[in-house]
Amino acid sequence: MKLPDLPVLAPVRRISPSLYAAGRLCLAKAAWLAHGDRSAIPDHPRALLGTAVHHVIEKAGAGRLAGSTAEERLAHARREFDTKIEELFSAAHPMLPAKFGSAERLPYYNLYKERAASIAADVAEVTHMPSGRAGSGSGRSAGRLVERGLEAEGGRLYGRIDALDPKDNAVVDYKTSRSPQEGGVRDGEARQLRVYAYLAQKNGFVINKGVIIRSDRSRGEIEISPDEAEDEARAAISTLDRLNERSGEEFASAATPSPEACAFCPCLPACPRFWDEADSSWAAETGVHLEGTVAELREAGTGIVGLDITVERGSAKRGAAHVERLTTAWLQARGGKLPTPGSRVRIVSVRAPSEDSENPVYRAHRESTSVWEVDNG
Ligand code: SF4
Repeated sequence: MKLPDLPVLAPVRRISPSLYAAGRLCLAKAAWLAHGDRSAIPDHPRALLGTAVHHVIEKAGAGRLAGSTAEERLAHARREFDTKIEELFSAAHPMLPAKFGSAERLPYYNLYKERAASIAADVAEVTHMPSGRAGSGSGRSAGRLVERGLEAEGGRLYGRIDALDPKDNAVVDYKTSRSPQEGGVRDGEARQLRVYAYLAQKNGFVINKGVIIRSDRSRGEIEISPDEAEDEARAAISTLDRLNERSGEEFASAATPSPEACAFCPCLPACPRFWDEADSSWAAETGVHLEGTVAELREAGTGIVGLDITVERGSAKRGAAHVERLTTAWLQARGGKLPTPGSRVRIVSVRAPSEDSENPVYRAHRESTSVWEVDNG
């Protein structure tokens, strides 16, 4: 596949918690989220499933799950999930159909669907709690605000909250990710909750708590004072200002690579600064991504191929290596060409060998591996 062009930094009108999270660590990553050609890089299947989960939660939060009984609302939530994931899958990067064939064959499809339905049932309950009042917002107006999103600072700060719990004076965010080993709330999640708390406060709600509920039903919460919420909102606006001050600059000049920033960065395949600076010590945090010159493409079965490659850049050990379990369908997705000896490729997200070896064998991962052609010039 061809690497996408990277955007020149351009003005951004408003900042959301996810743009803030990206921009805190790397302004180039935020610029990609705001202006990059996101259709050019395949989503991880779980990102698609997560988007469908949040779509169902949003419907529930807005009071738009039909049914007079819990069972009817669950059934509606499942149908909403199926419809949304079909829509996302049919618009997805061609790599996903090449790997999975249909939306229902995405790994953990049914698990995500059931979690979406059960979370949606909770959200409908929480956001529309009939007796709850907080600040000037009733339960029903909370639903409307959840649906349309919240703004503050003249529209420069924006976010869509999964649910407002007026009874508990809490903003609630539902996550499909696992909880941290030590439990509770991650630093990035706490920042997001504080921004949501600020947005809710500015829209008439009294908020003093942020709650994360994970799809495995574990829960973490933090107290949030008005000052803490305001400080986080100021930091988000300052990130927006820093991003806009760099308008007109090349993407690479705003990039600040580090293992923390580059882990899960969606534009990593194309980002020159990652490939310039990463080394094998980054792999524990970023995963294994390698760039090198192909020595040979080996047929290993019908449609299954391996590549002998000399690794020169990325978060893998330098030198001769082999990448196994690629398929011709993945390599040729979106008009890609099969690599030939001497061609240069980037292979993103492979499994590291279990033991250190002179000539490591990396294994392609069906959910996350992608292969990119690099211009030899
Ligand atoms: S790969 Fe790293 S340096 Fe490049 S944009 Fe992403 S976070 Fe920034």
